[in-house]
Amino acid sequence: MKTVTTALLLGTAAVALAQGTTFLTIGSGATTGVYFPVATGMAKLINDSGSGVRANARSTGGSVFNVNALGTGELDAAIAQNDIVYYAYRGTGIQAFQGKANNKLRTMAVLYPEVLHVIARRDAGINSIADLRGKRVVIGDLGSGTEQTARQVLEAYGLSFDDLGQALRVSPAQGITLMQDKRADALFYTVGVGASAISQIAQTVDVKVVPVGGNQASALIKKYPFYVRYNIPARSYKGVGATVPSVAVQATLVTTTGVSEDAVYRAMKAAFDNEAELKGLHPSLATNFSYDKAVKGLPAPLHPGAAKFFREKGVSVR
Ligand code: GLU
Repeated sequence: MKTVTTALLLGTAAVALAQGTTFLTIGSGATTGVYFPVATGMAKLINDSGSGVRANARSTGGSVFNVNALGTGELDAAIAQNDIVYYAYRGTGIQAFQGKANNKLRTMAVLYPEVLHVIARRDAGINSIADLRGKRVVIGDLGSGTEQTARQVLEAYGLSFDDLGQALRVSPAQGITLMQDKRADALFYTVGVGASAISQIAQTVDVKVVPVGGNQASALIKKYPFYVRYNIPARSYKGVGATVPSVAVQATLVTTTGVSEDAVYRAMKAAFDNEAELKGLHPSLATNFSYDKAVKGLPAPLHPGAAKFFREKGVSVR
């Protein structure tokens, strides 16, 4: 019986190889973020299309882990913040990438804005980022882009992680629990509006969204040009009745030169050709995605397979 099973498995793999099937493991983020549902949905579109590409989404710590894993070949594609992709491509910007430029990184598409959410317990007396001094703050997961955002935004207010009472480097799921149990006063998360982690906190804890604006936002954008100002719309979360100014970067689907033009083209065609289906994967895509915006502000060159896809869609790409 065992032999039969092995033979069958080998048989399937052999057929896949004979047909030139490419397997893509897509790095995403925490299950309560937005990368994960988007990557899972894209993998399903790719698998259902009979494109000859097989994809699966993997939950990870976030952008920094993802671009590092693209470098080692552990991932074939990933969603990551555009600022983090750029720093990895150039080997600059953040300490983890200094002198380690990965010039094989390629963009497939810019997807949607990822907005800095600073969520504070209403009973913690936090009205501004400056009030985070001495507080217990969730700064993002290990390998997250959020941690980098948190460091840069605190810096714009003259603070570092050392000025916090505690800098808690935990997953969003653990962050939810810490906020609920009053073991954390505030939480940073750079994520598409509507992320389930933020919704879950807002539904179970009395919170406010801390603004990032004014001169501090200007200084941040000047120093780190991938940020744009972005207002979190009123009523995006339970109990948050007013629009709150913040900043955003862009979620970007990336791969490497190691994946062929043909495979990337077929994956793009499967996941992006039907715009309504793609937008159905998450409200962040529904509100923000367009083919024109998908090729604007690229953090690394467009992969030839993606360029071919967008050209066919009538989008002008260089
Ligand atoms: N931008 C976050 C990060 O890189 C992940 C957001 C998500 O998973 O949707 O840490």
